[in-house]
Amino acid sequence: MTSLYDLPFDSLRSVLTEGGLAAAHTRALWRALHREADRHLLDRGDLSPPLKRWIAQHVGQTWSSDLPEIVSEIASSDGMTRKLLVRLHDGSRIETVVMGYPGRFTACISTQAGCAMGCVFCATGQGGFKRHLTPAEIVMQVVLARLTLQRHGLSGLRNLVLMGMGEPLHNYDAVMTALGIISDSRGINIGPSKISISTVGVIPGIRRLADEGQPYMLALSLHAANDARRSALIPVNKRWPLAELIETCHYYASRTGKRLFIEWTLIAGENDSVEDAAELVSLLQGLDAHINLIPLNPTEGFAGDATATRAVNDFQARMRAAGFPATVRQRRGIDVAAGCGQLAGSREGATS
Ligand code: SAH
Ligand code: SF4
Repeated sequence: MTSLYDLPFDSLRSVLTEGGLAAAHTRALWRALHREADRHLLDRGDLSPPLKRWIAQHVGQTWSSDLPEIVSEIASSDGMTRKLLVRLHDGSRIETVVMGYPGRFTACISTQAGCAMGCVFCATGQGGFKRHLTPAEIVMQVVLARLTLQRHGLSGLRNLVLMGMGEPLHNYDAVMTALGIISDSRGINIGPSKISISTVGVIPGIRRLADEGQPYMLALSLHAANDARRSALIPVNKRWPLAELIETCHYYASRTGKRLFIEWTLIAGENDSVEDAAELVSLLQGLDAHINLIPLNPTEGFAGDATATRAVNDFQARMRAAGFPATVRQRRGIDVAAGCGQLAGSREGATS
């Protein structure tokens, strides 16, 4: 059975018109799926009798509208970070996180079950690749994130980051279909400028984003500014080495005119020295880049520690002095929301 959440608006309209319904019914069903998912589909909004008949005939037979199950939900002590462990129909487990403040929440969603990129410090990478997620499985995480906020009397899901499990540009088509659905103003309505795709540096994917003029923000997980060190942390750096990657960043910037976000996970003694900062500054020369510094979340499979606060602040100051805006990713709710993939990994007994 295919999920109705796989369908962009125009495809849903075709499905309905081919089923003998007027195109005008599409909006009501779209809204019911994407904005009113807290009730049974047939009980949502004011669905017209013909639409209800279509749903009764087709949903559960040819089409499904079921959301995946939330296996567990863990909240930070202030309740503002909630990490969901979500079980997909084949038993795969993925993570979805909501974090923020009342009226301004961000959902962090997964794009694959596992990940094939093998970054040594990442719990998801340590667990290996299981499979790509479908567009529906990506969209439904946002629906679940909003329902979770609602259940706790919270609202205001404004931003989306593709920084959960998986490499978004390794699942390019499904991710783009899903983002088109998520940013549709008739439904979930998270604007493209509020959506960030984070990539380990899949060069063909970055070029495609630029060539297609995709309206989303892009974050590049750099973590090291020379090939030897980066390849040791991120094996796919051998396939897509730094010189070519940075050239692609310039191409992306010139085609899109957009600022690039650089992610730098700070690992004590590994990439947090004065020399590392200088190397990063020279690598990024001429790029309009904003740097996000993220102290490492320790994982069982990697013997590294987070950089101490003072060195984090020093690194940040050096970036700013060189003209690059730099922020330290706050580890709010870190008491529950450990690094990506750690929860799903531990439940599956793969890694923690
Ligand atoms: N695959 C994509 C997006 C998911 S990972 C990517 O790599 O960009 C999202 C971010 O979390 C990446 O910047 C990644 O390097 C970082 N990350 C992974 N494991 C981490 C850990 N243990 N501590 C801190 N950051 C981590
Ligand atoms: Fe995959 Fe990103 Fe983890 Fe690397 S950091 S293994 S690309 S999820």
